[in-house]
Amino acid sequence: MEELVGGIRRVTMPLPTRPGHVHAYLLPGDSGWTLVDTGIGLPDAKETWAAELEQLEGGVVTVFITHFHPDHIGAAADLHELTGAPVVEGALDYAQCELVWGNPLWSERLVEWFRQHGAPDDVTAELVGQSSVYRPFIRYQRDPILVEAGEHVDGWELVAAPGHADGQLCLIRDGVLIAADHLLGRITPTVGLWPASRPDPLGDYLGALDRTIELDPEIALPGHGDPIADPAGRARELKEHHRVRLGETVAALDGEPKTGYVLSFALFGTDLPPAGRRFAVAETLSHLERLVHEGAATRFEADGVVTYTAA
Ligand SMILES: [Zn+2]
Repeated sequence: MEELVGGIRRVTMPLPTRPGHVHAYLLPGDSGWTLVDTGIGLPDAKETWAAELEQLEGGVVTVFITHFHPDHIGAAADLHELTGAPVVEGALDYAQCELVWGNPLWSERLVEWFRQHGAPDDVTAELVGQSSVYRPFIRYQRDPILVEAGEHVDGWELVAAPGHADGQLCLIRDGVLIAADHLLGRITPTVGLWPASRPDPLGDYLGALDRTIELDPEIALPGHGDPIADPAGRARELKEHHRVRLGETVAALDGEPKTGYVLSFALFGTDLPPAGRRFAVAETLSHLERLVHEGAATRFEADGVVTYTAA
């Protein structure tokens, strides 16, 4: 446990996949500590957390979940049991959490979705098989307290940060932004189109980056990597990154209709493991859909397969 600005504590938990770690933050609030995110639910997560929380003066009064990805929500139920504190989560995020992790038919839906976007059957099985690797490590809390952007949690204001996850919420107070995976220092947060996600996640993300520039926090504490000393500057860099990627996506289109799967090779190369390809397809699609919204690309659907051309 490390102490950061304003008495905030950071706990870094191991992650068996890249980037190898995830940060949780303990925020000093008006009535006690608010714990933001939990790490993934490894078998010993509860013991690890018990040891961490022993170092803390005072109790945890709230467990706040920024978004439902396994490395952020995975040990939520463990922490609820350990602290007795209520789990608080954005309403949209919890709906998506139930849809994905609470739904035994989700893998089939993903299979169908990859097919629709052009993945061959043998590859689809591999792509989706990989995604269920996480399931045993996800112990989310059922029926949490649902909140919306603009509300406050123990003195911290909730800020909508869609893009990486539709319902992701950040927290801000006194110039400190708890950024989750909205802003990362050296990694570019993935922004993908997934089944049942909002129609234009990249458009949502670019809007959320504008909001960060407006809020102009002094520092951002991200879910992975070091604190970000110039959050507005980092938001501008990420906008520029996606502007360039949108240009490359347009350049990969021509008069011939192509699927998101095929285009992901042009944009992300041919040499990716299944998990990498899964994100590459989702990320390619979020760029294609942004281009459709901008009028620079056209989407077609025939025989259950979606393709894109330059407009
Ligand atoms: Zn993360």
